[in-house]
Amino acid sequence: SVVVVGSVNLDFVVAAPRIPAPGETILGSELVTRPGGKGGNQAVAAARLGAETVLVAAVGDDRMGEDLRRTLAGEGLDVSELTVIAGVSTGAALIVVDERGENSIVVAPGANGKLDTDRITRRTDLLGPGDVLSLQIEVPLATSLEAATRAKRAGASVLLNTAPLPPLPNATLERLLATIDVVVANEGEALALTGATPPADPAGWADLAAGVCGLGPRLAVVTLGEHGAVAAEGGRSYVQPAFAADVVDTTGAGDCFAAAFSVALARGLPTGEALRRACAAGAIATTRLGAQEAMPTADELDRFLE
Ligand code: ADP
Repeated sequence: SVVVVGSVNLDFVVAAPRIPAPGETILGSELVTRPGGKGGNQAVAAARLGAETVLVAAVGDDRMGEDLRRTLAGEGLDVSELTVIAGVSTGAALIVVDERGENSIVVAPGANGKLDTDRITRRTDLLGPGDVLSLQIEVPLATSLEAATRAKRAGASVLLNTAPLPPLPNATLERLLATIDVVVANEGEALALTGATPPADPAGWADLAAGVCGLGPRLAVVTLGEHGAVAAEGGRSYVQPAFAADVVDTTGAGDCFAAAFSVALARGLPTGEALRRACAAGAIATTRLGAQEAMPTADELDRFLE
């Protein structure tokens, strides 16, 4: 199975004619609330793609947390390790989208910032050989490192999506990179991690991915948005061009890609095939509005690839 240890948020989204300037108040559209957070998004994608998926995350003791639990459970996820932490708020993202589609976001981490590995420590049955632990960076790095260490000890594989990347250098992140098996980074993250200058073409990005392997993981994947993705593993490199998509909203594409790659790893697919499936899943996610709502099912992905 796929075990996601990560964040869950409620996103509060308002469309406005422009992003307000400091000190300014403007009127926006009707408020839309949507389930979000990279952990929640990736867990929903993994479940829709057919993996038995466990979400280890935390919410506050409030209505937002109850609503999120109901939504996530409705996706077929195992939410038995979704902890309620008293005295803190459920994670929330305040999002303003302007007429050009540019956005401005403030995240209040709330319970996500208090997620510890208590659950992972007690549920030793969660991770074993063939399972994949899937991480992002919206919960404390120390928690992710502890989970990764336990997963490796239990014989599971660990994938880290380096989003959002914290300020570097970061000693805990360095240890985490040295512990995991697979890293999935976007262009900006890969550049920051390696200190490299932007390559001119996908082959150059594949060389850069090999540089990311130098930080510890055996397999490094770099996503290139509309240019697809590349990977490097044990001296081999892979270049996967993007699939054509009628792009509506790229929100969630990176989360969908990382989740699809985790699912492919759990199935033991070869790297080239995992890369192809993840790119296709990411492309499908761009054709629909929202993040969790936009995630494809396994059937849809198979049909897309036929
Ligand atoms: P992030 O949002 O994390 O920066 P990317 O923009 O690299 O992630 O997108 C992740 C993946 O989603 C890409 O590797 C690609 O497979 C797919 N994708 C993103 N944008 C497009 C696009 N315009 N057309 C087709 N596929 C896309």
